[in-house]
Amino acid sequence: MTKRHYDWIIIGSGFGGSVSAHRLTQKGYDVLVIEKGRRFELDDFPKTNWDLKRWMWNPSIGLKGIFKMSFLKHMTVLHGVGVGGGSLVYANTLPMPTQEFFRSESWKDLADWEAELAPHYETARRMLGAAPNPIMTKGDHVMKEIAKDIGREEHFHPTEVAVFFGEPNKKVPDPFFGGEGPDRVGCNFCGACMTGCRVGAKNTLDKNYLYLAEKHGAEVLPETEVTHVAPRDEGGYRVETKASFGKHHSQEFTADRIIFAGGVMGTMPLLLQMKEDPTGLPHLSDRVGDFVRSNSEALFGIISPDKNENFSKGVAITSILHTDDHSHIEPVRYGEGSGFFRTLLSVHSPGPTVISRIWGALVAFSRRPVRWLRALFVRDFAKQSQVLLYMRTLEGTLRMRLGRGLRTGFRRGLVTEIDDPTQAPSAFMEEATELAERFADKVNGVPATLVTETLLGVPSTAHILGGACMGASEETGVIDRNHEVFNYSGMYVIDGSAISANPGVNPALTITALAERAMSLIADKHTAKATGPEKTESAPFTEGLRAE
Ligand SMILES: Cc1cc2nc3c(=O)[nH]c(=O)nc-3n(C[C@H](O)[C@H](O)[C@H](O)COP(=O)(O)OP(=O)(O)OC[C@H]3O[C@@H](n4cnc5c(N)ncnc54)[C@H](O)[C@@H]3O)c2cc1C
Ligand code: SF4
Repeated sequence: MTKRHYDWIIIGSGFGGSVSAHRLTQKGYDVLVIEKGRRFELDDFPKTNWDLKRWMWNPSIGLKGIFKMSFLKHMTVLHGVGVGGGSLVYANTLPMPTQEFFRSESWKDLADWEAELAPHYETARRMLGAAPNPIMTKGDHVMKEIAKDIGREEHFHPTEVAVFFGEPNKKVPDPFFGGEGPDRVGCNFCGACMTGCRVGAKNTLDKNYLYLAEKHGAEVLPETEVTHVAPRDEGGYRVETKASFGKHHSQEFTADRIIFAGGVMGTMPLLLQMKEDPTGLPHLSDRVGDFVRSNSEALFGIISPDKNENFSKGVAITSILHTDDHSHIEPVRYGEGSGFFRTLLSVHSPGPTVISRIWGALVAFSRRPVRWLRALFVRDFAKQSQVLLYMRTLEGTLRMRLGRGLRTGFRRGLVTEIDDPTQAPSAFMEEATELAERFADKVNGVPATLVTETLLGVPSTAHILGGACMGASEETGVIDRNHEVFNYSGMYVIDGSAISANPGVNPALTITALAERAMSLIADKHTAKATGPEKTESAPFTEGLRAE
């Protein structure tokens, strides 16, 4: 039964939200998690990504799945929706960022991040069940050859992934939390992690952090979107919601403290709207929406016309090659039959203008017409294509604002502006193109990219970060080093929007570690009651895994 007042309300059930829910419940607090998306049982996930109703999220046209693509002017953003947030749709990969991230100009003066976060990364890895991928696939062998060719063999290794590698398809009692967690099933390497694991092997948040939070009393309210947040005269905050679909149904809840954990694509529009609204949060820093970054990614689909190839076996991301100190490339896959992205692909063709890119695409096509024609008509696109994900620690930032335009359907919605044209994220990186072409040559394939990159020059990212960054004051940031929002006591941002530098690698582990750190600074409820609500300025890491 949902109550009306809580100690804490958490908006969103992704990495930041689920970690917070678990740790706050452990500390004795009453917690409500409000989640826009649906709750998914194993059978609710689609068998392939052609089942758009179960895969994609856009409830206004009946799509109630786990994956959303948002087309912004300067970036196409891929993100997750549902109880468990991005963990439902993500590719399970949990790499550690390099030192460059911890020492980045943008936040290095706020803390010794490397030292402070080290124990929290360890906890995050244990809680998410990180394990080395045990199986080399076709794509990994090709990647290893490339590593050798470029003299970086020792920088190629299997990924650490959040997957349970028991006996394939065999159900066992909770292997992670000493019996406190749910039963689990061993991975069968079907490659379908990014359409939702129907087996029960993927360590999604509803099987670790959020599961434990609910077990210990946290309430999760799915299919409910937070639309308004405002301070109350008597202290704490008032939260208004609406049903995500179906009959119009609004509700109101209150809490002493509140956490924004809607991911960049949920937290940014809400904070920007509340800042504009005199009845919302008008004293938010003017920095809301600034310093939005990605991992400076480039995404390719290498299509091989060879019917005997099968790139779809294995977990979603199986290995990583560090091509230099700042750059990485990973082979990625969808499971058999999941060929939806063939509808959005075009010839990879870097260039500064649309004319040069279209011309480049025609030249590339005419050099290998037979190979291209065979590639375009392969029977099972997922089996015969390998996605390549290239990332760099490059700084390139955008600003998010509210505005109107074609992309927002002429309603007021999220738009992007470029902070500095020379720093804007780019769809084309020479090294990425060269690596994709090398891979394509080795499998007699062709390199393709999303049509938005070729036609519009707009890069794509599954790793959108920032927008509510840390600062020493409200002049430089939206939140302080402990994630508390300037000018709003007891209000926090704990999700990808709080990431204040480019990790250069897949960010979920880092979001989890930062959330662990933020929560370690919150006093237990009984302590807080004795001394008044307070947070400990710096908490030694003593907690470990209390639940298990
Ligand atoms: C296809 C794909 C593959 C990926 N693979 C990897 C990978 O291998 N490794 C990795 O590290 N990262 C990966 N990522 C990125 C990773 O998923 C995100 O970085 C991560 O999920 C962000 O965590 P978060 O805490 O910011 O919020 P999210 O996980 O995005 O969760 C936010 C939640 O809040 C909800 N929400 C938003 N607004 C509201 C609102 N107003 N009211 C109620 N609820 C709301 C959303 O529905 C969502 O469920 C991948 C992403 C995608 C799309
Ligand atoms: S490879 Fe298949 S079984 Fe293994 S985690 Fe991914 S979806 Fe689940």
